[in-house]
Amino acid sequence: MMTLLTGTLLSSHQLAQLVGMPERQVEDHLTHIVKTLARDASRTFLLEPSHCQDCTYSFRDRTRLTRPSRCPRCRSEAITSPRYGIREESGSQ
Ligand SMILES: [Zn+2]
Repeated sequence: MMTLLTGTLLSSHQLAQLVGMPERQVEDHLTHIVKTLARDASRTFLLEPSHCQDCTYSFRDRTRLTRPSRCPRCRSEAITSPRYGIREESGSQ
């Protein structure tokens, strides 16, 4: 799954389809990947936060990986899925 995420941004829904496992299980894997990459200086885990489609509120402070169900500002449920990726640092150059 780490290979799939490198150099791109994917939602957990897209990832679930790519690897053929339930979204819930994908989120467990992502949690593990975050911990692994925290100790890896050559790669960085990227998280594009969810945001509200009605008022553009961004869930930047959210630490959980799953999609929030409701906007705290306008109560809308039109929340985009967060997307994930891995950036390889060009430390070898
Ligand atoms: Zn909102």
